[in-house]
This record gives sequence, structure tokens and C-alpha cells, in this order.
Amino acid sequence: MPERIHNFGAGPAVLPLSVVNAVGAALPNLMDSGFGLCEISHRSSTFQSVVDSAMERVRRVLSVPDDYTVLFLQGGASLQFYMTALNILNEGEKADFLVTGGWSQKALKEAGRIGNAEAIWNDEDNSFKSVPSDGEYSVREDAVYLHYTSNNTLYGTQYHHLPDSSGKPRILDASSDIAGVPLDVSAHEIIYAGAQKNLGPSGVTLVILSPWAMERCGDNLPTMLDYNVHASKGSLFNTPNTFGIFVLDQVFKWLEENGGLKGSIARNRAKANLLYQELDRTDFWAPHAHKDSRSVMNVTWRLSNQELEPTFLQEAEVAGLGGLKGHRSVGGIRASLYNGCPMESVVALVDFMREFSARYN
Ligand SMILES: *Cc1c(COP(=O)(O)O)cnc(C)c1O
Repeated sequence: MPERIHNFGAGPAVLPLSVVNAVGAALPNLMDSGFGLCEISHRSSTFQSVVDSAMERVRRVLSVPDDYTVLFLQGGASLQFYMTALNILNEGEKADFLVTGGWSQKALKEAGRIGNAEAIWNDEDNSFKSVPSDGEYSVREDAVYLHYTSNNTLYGTQYHHLPDSSGKPRILDASSDIAGVPLDVSAHEIIYAGAQKNLGPSGVTLVILSPWAMERCGDNLPTMLDYNVHASKGSLFNTPNTFGIFVLDQVFKWLEENGGLKGSIARNRAKANLLYQELDRTDFWAPHAHKDSRSVMNVTWRLSNQELEPTFLQEAEVAGLGGLKGHRSVGGIRASLYNGCPMESVVALVDFMREFSARYN
């Protein structure tokens, strides 16, 4: 493959080419420090300026309230499934979960190791084709928080509203739509997101904590799992993912140069609209998600004739369209249209789909 393909992979995912090039340029010599990007101390003033810049950009782009804490941790969103519960929940206390896919199922399971975690809504029997509307679930009166997953990476569903929590604190796994859709940070007590879908490479996890969350953090937790430890050291308690934080800063720089969150929302809507238009044009395609729960980040569908799916994927790859194989839990096709995916890739995909559907109809 002599050239970069159109990359629709679900994660780690495509990054803006200008970011990739900036990372390449920093590898031998980071910001004229003489030290290479992967070879510089996290205690150096050069790297400190990278962390500071990344934190400020996160705050600006996502409108993070001043009294919230921003952390760059390791362990992925999967560690946050446990870490949020460990810090916030005491033994026997209740935490309620909206289970809309595989990731929220995993979050529920990990929180169950700490407290009384329950799914108050679970759409597994309907193959996770939609997210709940307000009023379709009730939060337990003594629940400490409500946890939800804003975008369901595997099934291609997404909330287009802030879920009602009956006044309880919200904890959000925003791994697959952060900085790509509207987000009211102040309406949440904890937001976490692995970077590898919308924000950068794997190995760095953005965690945003409210004052309520920081105050609730338990005492005497295992050091590396204690939010207070990481917050008190500005995410530099131990060696962080220096490479990942640099790339994340570059992605946020790119976002700021391209209209901030507003620009990103508009681009993502335009990309998704184009693809859904094609999926609705002919019943050659069978989209997975219910219309009102459709994700702008991960678009999932089957071919009405499922036997054609391997051919579709094979021909797509030859046409320079990669990463389209659906997650094994849904099968079929999935196109991930994260922040780094350019419109021209979606145009190429839709052109290919029109041609393919005409030929095999
Ligand atoms: C990818 C993903 C995860 C898992 O992230 P890791 O960083 O691999 O642990 C969790 N939640 C959602 C919504 C995801 O899309």
C-alpha cells in the first residue's frame, strides 16, 4: 500500500494528516529542545509546557469549568470502569447504569466489585439498537450516581440529549465521541475517555473531575488508582505517556485551528449525514441503529444480502477503504467517522457504495 488509505477503523483511529506530520517532525527534536519526542524527561520544562498546553486546550475546547480537574492517565477507559467506582463509591452504596452496549456492560461489571451496581436500563434483548429516552428508566432514590456511555462504539448508537439522572451526579464514558459532539461538562461529575478514537493515540486517557468527585475520593486507596494522587501532581506522579500527551495536544491544537468544538460538530454531522443518506437510499443496505439513536461517530450496517459482506469488504480494501469490518458482536460493516476522518474519505466511501450496490443489485 504505497499511500495512506481512507481509514474507517474504530480505534486506534485516523488522525489529521497535519498532526501526524507534526508528530513526525517532533520525533528527532521536540520544540527545538534538542531532545527527541520519545527521549525527553517528563520532568523537563519543555515537556511541562506540553502538559500545560494540552490541559489548557482541553479546558478551552470543551469549556471545562475552572474548578474542575483535568487529568491525563494511563490504563485506558477500561481502567476508569473500576477507578471511578473505587474513588466514588463505598461498599454497599448504589450506582445505576444505563447499559447500551458492550462498554457500559463492562463498566457495570467493574463497579460491581466495589458497590451495589445495577443496570436500570438494558437493551441487550433488542440488540442494542437504541439508547433510552428520559422516562424509560428510573434512577434508584439512593443511588450515588448514574453512569452512561454517550456513544456506543460497537453498535453505532448515541444519545442526542443529556440523559435525565433524577438530580443524581452523572458519570460519563465519552471515549468514542468526546470533542466530536455537543457536551455540557458542567452537567457531569466525571467524564473519561481513552484518547485513541477522537483525541490521539492509545495509552493516554483524559479524565475530567468535578469538585464533588474530588471531595468524594476515598482515603488510603492504592496509590496509582487514587485520583487525588494524580491531581496533586498535575498528572506527573509517575512517568506519564509523554508521547500520547504530545499527540493529544496537537489534536486539540488542530481542533482549535478548525473552529473548535463547533467546527468539529458541524464536520461530523456533515460526514454522518452523507453516509446515512446513502444507507437510506436503497434497501440494499440494512442500517443497524434506530433512526433517533444513530451515531455520528460509528455508523453500523449490514448488507441485506449478508453473503455479499465479505465481497464488499474485500473490494472496499482494494479501492483504498480500510477498517470497515464490523465488530464481531454486530457483524457486517462499521465506518468510524471520528474527528480525524476527513470528509473526502466519506465521499470516497459513498461513491464506492453507490457503485457496488448498482453492480450487485
Ligand atoms: C474503546 C472504548 C473503551 C475502551 O477503551 P480502552 O482505552 O481500550 O480501555 C471504553 N468505552 C468506550 C465507549 C469505547 O469506545
